[in-house]
Amino acid sequence: MRLSYSSISTYETCPAKYRFQYEDKLPRSGSPALSFGDTLHRTLYRFHDRPVPVAPSLEELHEMLQLEWASEGYRDPSEELLYLDHARQILAEYHRANADSFRIPAALEYRFSVEVEGVQLTGMIDRMDRIPGGGYEIVDYKTNRRLPPRAVVDQDLQLSLYYLAAREIWGIEPERLTLYFLLPGERMSTVRTTADADRLRRRIAVVAERIAAGKFEARQNPLCDWCDFQPVCPLFRHKYEREQGDPAPRMTEMVDEWIALKREDWERYRRLEDLRALINAFCEEHGYRRLYGSDGSAVDRRPMHVTAPDEARIRRTLEPLGLWEQVISVDPKKLTSLIEGRSLPPDVEDALLASREEVRTQYSLYLKDPARARR
Ligand code: SF4
Repeated sequence: MRLSYSSISTYETCPAKYRFQYEDKLPRSGSPALSFGDTLHRTLYRFHDRPVPVAPSLEELHEMLQLEWASEGYRDPSEELLYLDHARQILAEYHRANADSFRIPAALEYRFSVEVEGVQLTGMIDRMDRIPGGGYEIVDYKTNRRLPPRAVVDQDLQLSLYYLAAREIWGIEPERLTLYFLLPGERMSTVRTTADADRLRRRIAVVAERIAAGKFEARQNPLCDWCDFQPVCPLFRHKYEREQGDPAPRMTEMVDEWIALKREDWERYRRLEDLRALINAFCEEHGYRRLYGSDGSAVDRRPMHVTAPDEARIRRTLEPLGLWEQVISVDPKKLTSLIEGRSLPPDVEDALLASREEVRTQYSLYLKDPARARR
């Protein structure tokens, strides 16, 4: 099995998307962001690919951009022009920040393929630099608009993979791993340890096992709106079928009715909450415990203090009496989230799923309401 940063991350985000993209190899549509990112990467490759440690001039860098520019993925020439202008500005900033400290990289767009846990791990390291004074820094260019939180960089899968690859290929431990965010022109650096590499090996093994076991469930996630595979995805199938003629118009009517009732529910709930707050506030201010209407009363419930049991203390008390076993139990919610965390080997996951077979399947519906999201 061959895996890369993209395929692992795709699988972890949505196994169905992985299947459509890497197993079924369904075609994908281009996008401005993809095309723009590729061009910047290729241009920076040219910029750093020098026999002498002297940076090309800004004019030369802009010429390189022109040579590497690809028109695919843009909606129309005016959108393309906007992106081209933006690329020129980004590269001008990059040149300003990097020309003086220009050095010949230790590695540039280095393609690797190493075996990890029986998996062929492939990828390409954008750049590796020697750090003055000793050590190596791996640099990966990013074209995100905003900087991610520090914790995200410290957990970044791509940097972890490159760290592991550098150890396997060159036998070195890179001292610094950097994401270079080209749009804001900022670097964010982090480190990895041997323990991180070991954790990553296990993570790769779990993904590989799940793929080998044919686990390709569709998983709703924030990137669904931009997914090329919506027309074949079980979560969105009906939406696309309807465009060709609704296969179940009666059901569509029922769904419409259900949505209308759900919206009424929300309106009622909102009004109930408003009234509750007003009644509670009035009771509090005027010393009432209940207020009477024409046909019943509203009772003001005082806040209750809920105390959580101190598990260690209870255990210390009950264990010597042999009663501890009578109060511990499996929390079904925690069990479900453990299974849905997709970090378990398939056989363990299957065994846990099988252990729940006695529990009846509970169906539920929830409304994804674009009208509500807009409010
Ligand atoms: S639309 Fe969402 S759930 Fe469906 S395949 Fe794409 S990412 Fe997965």
